[in-house]
This record gives sequence, structure tokens and C-alpha cells, in this order.
Amino acid sequence: MFLRQKLENARYIDTRTESEYRLGHLPGAVRLDLTEPRFRLRSQEELQAFQQALAELNGALGLSPEIPVVCYDDGLTGQLARTAFLLALAGNEVFLWTDGWQDEATDSSPAVPEPSARWVRFREDLLLTADQAQRFEPLFDVRTKPEYRGEVHPPCCPRGGRIPGARHAPLELFFEPEGLLQKLGLEPGQAVGVYCHSGTRSAVAFWMLRGLGVNARNYLGSMHEWSHETDLPVEVDPPVRRGRRKT
Ligand code: ZN
Repeated sequence: MFLRQKLENARYIDTRTESEYRLGHLPGAVRLDLTEPRFRLRSQEELQAFQQALAELNGALGLSPEIPVVCYDDGLTGQLARTAFLLALAGNEVFLWTDGWQDEATDSSPAVPEPSARWVRFREDLLLTADQAQRFEPLFDVRTKPEYRGEVHPPCCPRGGRIPGARHAPLELFFEPEGLLQKLGLEPGQAVGVYCHSGTRSAVAFWMLRGLGVNARNYLGSMHEWSHETDLPVEVDPPVRRGRRKT
């Protein structure tokens, strides 16, 4: 899953910024950042349209189910994790390369992929939808404490709070893989759900857990989708009292 050296016969995807890419990238690597697209995945039609979008993505990039895909960036960034997550959902065998590729980033001319036929091998075992997340256990919220408690939320969300029953595991924890499973009370092979605001930070947690042998599933829509769905409840903590207590 995490690469330490170059993999032959793979397709390379660079998830850094356009300007970084232009300064030098791995030979033949295509630049791609899938941090932005958001999907509402509650009806069958929406799930089908989503799979169609993944099939088109595979085709537009000229990917093939037989050829592994290596996504690389300077470290395990959000754009690397979410882009790699969507490519894995589409059925690609995906590897992440977070360090050690820099010396080989000698190509500065943009690579244009040759489109292939559309295809998808949808990996629903990697994904959680809102309706699955509602019943999933254990489910970890990897946002900050104030977000988890419902004290703050981004302006794009109509309300704050968390998915009822979700446990808090801030993203920083996942960058220290040593002892992580113990801290979270997890075993290799166990199924675990993760979410954040837009499925990006939770994609980072997803890959770290997968790297440790946990069958992580990412709730892609996360609180951004959840907070817009009026039938889905949120849990919030009572405000923390500050200052002197009245006697
Ligand atoms: Zn939002």
C-alpha cells in the first residue's frame, strides 16, 4: 500500500499543486487532485451516477484494471489520500508514495493521458454511505475536538455536531502508527469506519489504518453531507463553562 521505491509498470499520479508539478514530476505522471468533488450518495440513482463518474474517470485517465496506480505527494497529504481513495473505489490497485520519489521527478512537460474505454470495479467494501455510517460501529470522527463537540462548523454546513455514537480520534493520532491500534482499541482485520468534514482527513486515516491491516471504510460524504440531510440526527456536547462557577 505504501511504497518505498519505484514500482515498474505502474501508472503515476501526481497530486501536488499545478506549479509544483510543472517544476518537475515523475516521467509520465499525470497531475490529478480529487479533493473537491462531493457526492450525495443516498439513493440508488445517486450511487449509480457515482459509479458512472468513477468509470469515466478511469477511462479519461486511460487506466486499466490490470495496471497498478501509484499516487505520490510530499507526505501523506489530504489531496493524496482522497485522490487515491477515489481511484481505489473505482477498482484500481492503488499504492501511495509519500517520500523518496523526489530525485526522480525530472520531467517538466505535462503528461496528457490517452483515454481508454470506461470501466469500473466498484469497491463498496471501502466506502461508507450516510445510511451505513448511521449504523456502523466502531465509527471514528477524525476532526478536531471543537468540531467533534459541535462547537464549530464550516460555513458550508448548516449545523455542527457529530454522528451519534461516533468516537473521537483526532487526525494527529494517525500520524503516529506506533501503538495506534492499541490506542483506538482495534485489531488487524477488524472493520472500522472513519469520517471528517468532507472525506479528506478521513481518507488519510483510512490509508493509515489500511496500512496497519485494518479494514477501514471511509464515509466519503462525511459531516458536509450529513449536516445537510434533515432526517439525520447530530449529537453535540453541552457548552463548556468558562470562568468561575457560581456557588
Ligand atoms: Zn460543509
